[in-house]
Formats: sequence, C-alpha cells, structure tokens
Amino acid sequence: MPDFLYIHIPFCIRKCLYCDFLSVPYNKSLADAYISALCRELHLKNHLVLRLQTIFVGGGTPSLLSEDCLNQLFKCLRTNFIFSDNIEITVEANPATLSRSKIDLLLSNGVNRLSIGVQSFNDTELKALGRIHSSREAFDSIDLILKTGLKNISLDLMYGIPGQTMKTWQESSSKAVGLSPSHISAYELTPEKGTQLYELINTSKKNPPIPPLSKGGEGGFSDKIIMPDEGLALSMYDHAIDYFSSCGYEHYEISNFALPGFRCRHNLNYWDRGQYIGAGAGAHSFINGARSKNTEDINKYIEILNYGTIPEVESSIVTSEEALKEFIFLGLRKTGGISIAESENSGLDIIEACKELIDEGFFEVQGDFLRLSRKGLPVSNAIIVKLFERLGF
Ligand code: SF4
Repeated sequence: MPDFLYIHIPFCIRKCLYCDFLSVPYNKSLADAYISALCRELHLKNHLVLRLQTIFVGGGTPSLLSEDCLNQLFKCLRTNFIFSDNIEITVEANPATLSRSKIDLLLSNGVNRLSIGVQSFNDTELKALGRIHSSREAFDSIDLILKTGLKNISLDLMYGIPGQTMKTWQESSSKAVGLSPSHISAYELTPEKGTQLYELINTSKKNPPIPPLSKGGEGGFSDKIIMPDEGLALSMYDHAIDYFSSCGYEHYEISNFALPGFRCRHNLNYWDRGQYIGAGAGAHSFINGARSKNTEDINKYIEILNYGTIPEVESSIVTSEEALKEFIFLGLRKTGGISIAESENSGLDIIEACKELIDEGFFEVQGDFLRLSRKGLPVSNAIIVKLFERLGF
C-alpha cells in the first residue's frame, strides 16, 4: 500500500531568485480555500492507504499557513487516516515564518520532524539567493525549536551560491553542525531555466555589470553575478562529505547526511521506488505501477475539488524499461547503492555493464551492492547516463 503521503503547500512570502518549485505569493483567502480543497482531496484518497508510515508537508512554505489552516489540515489527516505508531511527520519551515506558538501548534499536532530551509549562514549569500530571512533569524528560529526539546531537525544548506567562497561555505557548514541538527541536506545551487537567477546570470553575461535588483532588499546583486566555478563547487561538495562525516553524520544519499537513526524515511521511500500518495497542487503519486500528477493551477485545483473530483492531469503506467531505469537512478542516489541480485533478477547484467566504470573507479562493489564511489558521486548524473548507454536504454 502507498503508506507514504506528500502534501504540497504552494505559498511563499516571496519567490526566491533560484526557485523553480510550484509556489505563489501567500494570500490568506486563497490559502484558506486551498486547505479546504486539500482536505477534500485527502478524503477522496483515504481508501488508498492502510496505515500511514510518513507524512511530508512540503512546499512552498508550509510554516506560513495560519494556525487555523494548520489545525484544519492535521485534524483532517487524523480523521481520514490511521497513523502507524512510529509515524514520521515532517513539515518544511522557513526561519522567518516560525514563532514559538506556531512550533508548539505543529508539535501538538504530532509533527516530529522539522526541515528548516536555512541555505546559508552568510547574509550576503542569503540576499544573493533572494531569501526572506537573515542568518540571525535562522539562529533564533532553530533556538526556539531546540528549546521545545524536538530532536529531529533537518537543516537545508546550499553550495555554489553566487559570490560564495570555500571559506564562507566552511563557516556555514560549521555553524550548521554547531546547532546539532539530526540531519543536514547540502544541495548544489543549479540555476534552472525560467528562474530569476538564470535570467540574471544571462543578462549579466551579456551586459555586465547589472544594477541592484531593487531598493527593497529583493536580492543581493549590485554587480556582475559570479557563480563559483565547477572546480570550486566540487571542492565544496568534497568538504561537505569530509566535514559532516567527521562530525558523526552518515552520508546516506548524494546530498543528505544524518546522525545514526535519523535518516529521512519519507525520502528513502522515493529512492527505494516505494509507492506514495501526493496531495495538493502539482503533487505526484506513484500507486500500483502508475505515476500521476495533479494540476499545477491552484485555482483549477480548488475548483475541480469543489466538484468532488481528483484534479489529476497526467497519469501513465510505468513501462518495465522505465521501472528498471528508475530502480537504477533512484537507487544509486543512496550511498549504499543497489542490490546486484535484485538487478539480475530483473534481467540486468549490471556488473558486466558497469565493468569499465568500475575499472575507472566510478563504481565500487561491496557484497551484494553496487554503488557510486567517492569519485563517482559528484558526477553521478553523467555516470548514470553512461551506464544506461551500456545497458542499451
Ligand atoms: S522558500 Fe522555497 S519554495 Fe518558497 S520561493 Fe524560496 S525556494 Fe521557492
């Protein structure tokens, strides 16, 4: 059964410059209508679930919702689903949107994991990302959470930020560890087409220098945008692996580190190709071998649910070749790798296909598992493409 539930909350105070997630500026009446529609969707999907193992409320900025909306959402979850005894309930939060009363409300509703989008502890870098919070606000929010006694806190960090240096990345990493989170995610900033950052970089390349974005603190560029070069970004990733590991964090997925016992069970289910249900605008589901997606149009999402229908816009059965590819590229995100026996049972001669890549040091075999080596991890996408070619995909 798909006992893993993702809920998308598509509201933020303001769009970060690098953001390509589904999020629109927060508006109370729209958010109220959205939560009511979301509760209808959860009610329509409750028969698909036996006993929920994890809930992940992501976004967007779920912590931006009013206390009434959050209470309504959790009440609806409790009414519609049975929770397993050791359920993991994560809520993503932005430092500037957390108060003690909101944290208490989340915890009293059973939330036992908070994922905080810190990104950097350097104010210049936060401005360059267009984040709405300062480093001080991040410290203060985390301090508020720690005072409640919650142990399962994840911090998101970014490297490869315009203007970032190895020194500032090391400082942010060590400030993060200094707060003793149970989990750290470290993602490389990749300016995606369609984001404000992508446009700014291209304008800056054609026509440097560019003027400041605004007087209102919309962003941090007052000159040409300098992205760290590929070599520096790779060194930053290397530093993350060495440093977080030396501090006791297990590097269990390409970008994720956890203290023993604190791996994110919800995300592990994705990488294990487990089934899951998505609810909310743009949310994906994977049930009985089919992947589907809800409309990204928030007003349509609300309207369709007002008619009592699930607002699905895409749905397709995963072919056997697609399933094998997913097994490889999702499984190899885990540093433990994929089972060789399982690959062979699916008809793949994975070791033969990987032979040269193993000889070149990009993969290694440990017992029944094939995994990306330290040399292969930073270039995982390119290596997996080569592996697909050798497998004839
Ligand atoms: S907080 Fe996250 S979802 Fe919201 S705009 Fe920034 S990056 Fe996008």
